[in-house]
Amino acid sequence: MEAKPWKLLIVEDEPELAMGLRDNFEMEGFSVVAAADGEQAVSCAMDEQPDLVLLDVMLPRLSGFEACRELRQRGFSKPIVMLTARSQESDIVTGLELGADDYVTKPFSIRELVARVRAHLRRHTPKAELDRYEFGEISLDFRNYSGTRAGLDLGLSPREFEMLRYLIQHRGEPVTREDLLEHVWGLHDYPITRTVDNHIAKLRQKIEDEPAEPRWIVTLHRSGYKFLG
Ligand code: CA
Repeated sequence: MEAKPWKLLIVEDEPELAMGLRDNFEMEGFSVVAAADGEQAVSCAMDEQPDLVLLDVMLPRLSGFEACRELRQRGFSKPIVMLTARSQESDIVTGLELGADDYVTKPFSIRELVARVRAHLRRHTPKAELDRYEFGEISLDFRNYSGTRAGLDLGLSPREFEMLRYLIQHRGEPVTREDLLEHVWGLHDYPITRTVDNHIAKLRQKIEDEPAEPRWIVTLHRSGYKFLG
């Protein structure tokens, strides 16, 4: 059985380079979509949900940096690899600060680029997939365990992060107390289901405007909870 091909978004305004990248990645078995400016990059990434974005820095309309920041603000969590000119050391730092995962300096070897893209895709396991998430005024960074609401620290515990991670990964679906016990606490701790309710109550105090009438984590009659962010 053949696995579904990785979908790559290539954002490059120089037609020859864009074409060369497309050809090479297609030969390597990737499915490729392309954009030629920063605005197109953002709309294309949101519409097509590629597994990885190759993003040139120098682009018309929105620069690669601006496009990168915009994508992260919109909750796009897949790897972004910036393509930057060799001399622009400061660009590299800026790119990484804005949420890029890696950078490759031009001119690059296509073989090296393909290898790095593959490495990012492999590393991007489902758990790591949720590096960041935003809903309402809340912004979560699962890599640093930092969570803010309208810019203020939420004071979430690691357990609360793991609960949120699980709920978000299953957003829109019913999640039972047993699911949470198994995936957040682990099977060895044997906590009681009441523990889950207590933790949910505390979590709601932190993330809900009206914890008694939750908007994000709703209670399902008898079965558990559902995340609606
Ligand atoms: Ca360019």
